[in-house]
Amino acid sequence: ERAAQAAAAQADDDAPTIFDKIIAKQIKSDIIYEDDQCLALRDIQPQARARARMAAPVHFLVIPKHRDGLTRLSRAEERHKALLGHLLFVAQLVAKQEGLQPGFRVVINDGPQGCQSVYHLHLHIMGGRQLSWPPG
Ligand code: ADP
Repeated sequence: ERAAQAAAAQADDDAPTIFDKIIAKQIKSDIIYEDDQCLALRDIQPQARARARMAAPVHFLVIPKHRDGLTRLSRAEERHKALLGHLLFVAQLVAKQEGLQPGFRVVINDGPQGCQSVYHLHLHIMGGRQLSWPPG
């Protein structure tokens, strides 16, 4: 948890991120959905699994292919509204594909206090077990 906070505090808002390489398919990732605007991929460090130590909880990310200034949600401008809606729509589509009919959670971490470490907007979708509330 502390490591995540440190990474969040050090993240450079404007630099290229690991997601650019994933989108360019320069590094391997487990892509479970793709269209012209976005990708969904399995998170490399699934939080749902770490906490509950369960066999198969789900944690995937939905990321826009073209960042277009959307390093973080709080950089959203009028021109991003359709894309933001699309990302949320894809989140529930892939959640169904992943068997999350009983429910799931969508999270966007924004900025240092939100514990954001990758400055390329992304939605976390987590499920596959009973989640608790509130998060830390
Ligand atoms: P945090 O790292 O605090 O969760 P973010 O909200 O910025 O902050 O989330 C970035 C997410 O990207 C993390 O859940 C991390 O595990 C995930 N991630 C980082 N690198 C990769 C990768 N190569 N493939 C898949 N997921 C990745």
